[in-house]
Amino acid sequence: MDFLAMIESLYDEWANFLRQYYKTQMDEILLTYPLKKSLYVDYWDVDRYSESLAEALLFSPKESFAEAQKALDTFVEGKDVAIRIKNLTKTYRLKISALRSENLNKFVALEGLVKKVTEVRPILKIGVFKCSNCGEETYVEQDTKRLQEPAVCQSCGKRAKFSLMVEKSLFSDTQKVEIQEIGEGISSEPARIGAYAEGDIAGMLNPGDHVIVNGVLRGSVRLDERNAKTTVFDKYVEANSFELQEEKLEEIEITDEDEREILEISRRESLIEDIIASINPAIYGLEMEKKALALQLFGGVQKEMDDGTRIRGDIHVLFVGDPGTAKSQLLRYVAQIAPRGVYTSGKGSSAAGLTATVVKDSFGEGRWTLEAGVLVLADRGIACIDEIDKMTSQDASAMHQAMEQQEVSIAKAGISATLQTRCSILGAANPQYGRFDLYKPVAEQINLSPALLSRFDLIFPFTDKPDKDRDRNLAEHVAKAHFSGELKALKKRRRDVTVREYIEGSENVAKPVIEPLLLKKYIAYAKRMMPLLTPTAMDRLVGYYTNLRRLGEEGAIPITARQFEAMIRLAEASAKMRLSNFIEEEDCETAIGIMDYCLRKIGIDAETGRFDIDAIIGKPASQRNRMSRIMEIIKDLETTDEKGAEEREITRIAVSEGISEDLVTSTLRKLKAEGMIYEPKSGWFRSIRNR
Ligand code: ADP
Ligand code: MG
Repeated sequence: MDFLAMIESLYDEWANFLRQYYKTQMDEILLTYPLKKSLYVDYWDVDRYSESLAEALLFSPKESFAEAQKALDTFVEGKDVAIRIKNLTKTYRLKISALRSENLNKFVALEGLVKKVTEVRPILKIGVFKCSNCGEETYVEQDTKRLQEPAVCQSCGKRAKFSLMVEKSLFSDTQKVEIQEIGEGISSEPARIGAYAEGDIAGMLNPGDHVIVNGVLRGSVRLDERNAKTTVFDKYVEANSFELQEEKLEEIEITDEDEREILEISRRESLIEDIIASINPAIYGLEMEKKALALQLFGGVQKEMDDGTRIRGDIHVLFVGDPGTAKSQLLRYVAQIAPRGVYTSGKGSSAAGLTATVVKDSFGEGRWTLEAGVLVLADRGIACIDEIDKMTSQDASAMHQAMEQQEVSIAKAGISATLQTRCSILGAANPQYGRFDLYKPVAEQINLSPALLSRFDLIFPFTDKPDKDRDRNLAEHVAKAHFSGELKALKKRRRDVTVREYIEGSENVAKPVIEPLLLKKYIAYAKRMMPLLTPTAMDRLVGYYTNLRRLGEEGAIPITARQFEAMIRLAEASAKMRLSNFIEEEDCETAIGIMDYCLRKIGIDAETGRFDIDAIIGKPASQRNRMSRIMEIIKDLETTDEKGAEEREITRIAVSEGISEDLVTSTLRKLKAEGMIYEPKSGWFRSIRNR
């Protein structure tokens, strides 16, 4: 049958098709009505039944849907069941940014992330109007946005006044959603499109969902500044069906050829070195930091316990330190190679903030809109948050829940939702006061709450101290990278160029061992692994932990269960990286190596040189002990002298106990700042009681 003939007989064809292919499904819907109000039809069934019927669906969707719906209506005896098509051919799965005028009024499939959803509102489908003259009721089907009233009364024939009988009228639900393009590439502003959903698919989507929208692309007249109609159209989608994509990493297509390459890489002796050398090779050194990033990219295993609690598998990493030490560069790179990587700056985060917000903007057309922030969009990926110390306090408090519970809940203006934020956080922060001081607690130097800091599995300090050898190597590395870049630029212009002066070893200096796209595929592939701890691995990790715990003296706690969990995650990530089903000893060595490196940098009490995890947060045991000792001295002196405790006397006693004079001064300052003591007159202190 040719196309035109098909258009003529659409109703019969659809009726035939439904009878032949979907009889049982329709019967089932009738039995359970109104539990389900949609009949889902597989596009390939239509194609199997008749290629031209499928073709008509793609190219004349308006007529096709109208007739298909009519055919379905007769089967379901006028019940409110919508026909919905899913599983469209991949050829009609288009990129939002690739939509052109030729796609207008065609049936298309768009893949993307849900960025915004409005609240669900009722919409009038069939209005029942009562005539003010004779009282008779007239039914008017509503198919435009503007309310359509009867022109004349069917019964008395008068142009009377009509009142809408709300209880008798038929309503449906509507919602507008915004879909954002997902891509393998890196575009700063991804393309977006609005989609209107009606019926039981309204309210089906949540921000952050990965979805395929099947629907008809429409254009609406755009108005100019003076509200006059123009010939330029805005596009939107009339959604027919949504297909939720559960496995979000499938965004990346892995071919058989890719798989072969991935397996080859996984067997390399130098696997971990190769991956490290593929993370921003233009950046010199920072091997340990890059190793941590590599493991973060793979992540641990998310677990669900019998009591329903979730233990995150995501590894959160924080870079803190001096400006100009490549923190931002590394974050940007990770966002590129991570499946579902998102880069943002805490300073200029979008209006949606980091998690989600409810707003009333032009998108909602008068309705409230729930908009996903970065953490929701990065669900199952990595959110790289630069200048994390500059985020707003609302964002900071939302971060807590997002990082630990892996979801955020929001309730405002009648919209309440729980959105998934199963993403790893890679944060970067600059010190508040100039340069980063390795001998001071991290918490004192950056504007992040201790509670938030403790959510990070690994914290790396970046310091920029002159170091003759490192400086030379770094400079040479950077110069070579620039030279190879210059050469490439020149060769692009003039192919025949030959270079007389050649800088040795420059061509590979900024070249990743594994191509970024392949690495991305490797990560997506490896993330599916679910490795298991082996008994030897468990012994190794437990051994490290208990040994380190034993080093704790005088109230110092070298490591806590938090870091132990972090080590398990790191070991899991290492096994995933090897595409191994088991966590072996070598994975533990990798995990321990990184944890040890981090703890040695920031988890050591500068005063005693001992491991003390509280050195991160700001009160190593030595300091705590000192503060309480000095408080005791003050309280003792107070009881004998009504003027209080004199600084000279405090210092004398403390120094006799081995506390240096400088430390006494700084401790007094701390105690005062924390409101433990006050200084009624210069050089005299009093403790604050009843606290
Ligand atoms: P930060 O975010 O830490 O302030 P940036 O990432 O903006 O620093 O880095 C500043 C510049 O210095 C970048 O152009 C970066 O490439 C360069 N740079 C810093 N450290 C290195 C390094 N180790 N190797 C190569 N380039 C570096
Ligand atoms: Mg920066």
